[in-house]
Amino acid sequence: MKITMVQLTPVLTRRETGNTNPHIIVQLHTDEGLVGVGEMSDLGHGKVKFDVRDLTESLEEVLVGQDPLHWRPLCHMIQGRYAGEGPLREGVEIAIFDLVGKVKGQSITELFGGGYRDKVKVCYPIFRMFDMAEVEPNLARVDQRMAEGQDLFRLYVGGNVEADEAFLSAVRSKYGSSFGLKSLDLSGRLSWKKAMAVLEVLLPYDPILVESVCDRRDPEGQYEVRSRIDKPISEHISSVQQAFFFAKNRLVDIFNLSLAGCGGLTAGLHMAAIAQAAGISCLVGTTQELSIGVAAQAMFGALLENLDFPSDMTGGLLYIDDVVKERVRYENGYLLVPDGPGVGMELDEDKLRELERPLSSLSIPAW
Ligand code: MG
Repeated sequence: MKITMVQLTPVLTRRETGNTNPHIIVQLHTDEGLVGVGEMSDLGHGKVKFDVRDLTESLEEVLVGQDPLHWRPLCHMIQGRYAGEGPLREGVEIAIFDLVGKVKGQSITELFGGGYRDKVKVCYPIFRMFDMAEVEPNLARVDQRMAEGQDLFRLYVGGNVEADEAFLSAVRSKYGSSFGLKSLDLSGRLSWKKAMAVLEVLLPYDPILVESVCDRRDPEGQYEVRSRIDKPISEHISSVQQAFFFAKNRLVDIFNLSLAGCGGLTAGLHMAAIAQAAGISCLVGTTQELSIGVAAQAMFGALLENLDFPSDMTGGLLYIDDVVKERVRYENGYLLVPDGPGVGMELDEDKLRELERPLSSLSIPAW
């Protein structure tokens, strides 16, 4: 089997929070008629965007004529050529493994030897508040999700600590311990001493863990926080070199691994293995994926022996729009790992056309 064409479709999708986020849906066509689908998730972070035509040509130069069943050297080539581009490598690898799975009639989990679990506990995000006025809408979000059985949350903190505390105090008095607080996420925005000041106020609300306590370029600062608090600390890991450095120096307790952050499944599995060698746990993070990305992340999570903490992939709940016929499924706070074949998601071409928008660094009116 040979790849004959790369098709990239930029889409813009709405979140229930009112934001819109761009993604690129990847389709790898083959001479046997099979099409592998993938997703470069949530490309809203960087201000400079891919030129989609240029990227298509670049990927076709690498992929056209290649046999996806020989995925190991192919993924190695992608990893080397697009080293700095996590979501790009994520999207292409998902499409490659979707093809391989479709050929073999297996899910991605099965391709890698079978998973340790068929569902993954996940948390819903409450994004950082900068104003007291944001507390009430977020309390309403919690009410809605709790009613649906989604009982675990993470809170981005440190924008307005008064708002953080008002929110946590309200949910604790209403729901008690049935409101699960997976993490307080500082996103590396504060120096470690300022992070400690925030944590002194918020730790009594009893998170399971604390994430990104200071700038990733100051790993010793993370260790300073880790030595002062009695909660595990997690950090996003985006390269095997960073994984090795953090593991060797025992800087954190948990690696936060997402396919967009790691740059795909092959790199993510290497980083998880480095964690395991150092006795470090993993959780599957998120950039906020649509269903194709979430499904791949679920399968990645199923494959991790050291997935010791709840994960973050609730894009399937967060987005109003999606590009698949049937979305990923959640049940009682768990993400169900799809069965496949491949990534287990069927593209809805009508929705894809409806959501297609140019990928631009300017804000594009959604509707
Ligand atoms: Mg984070």
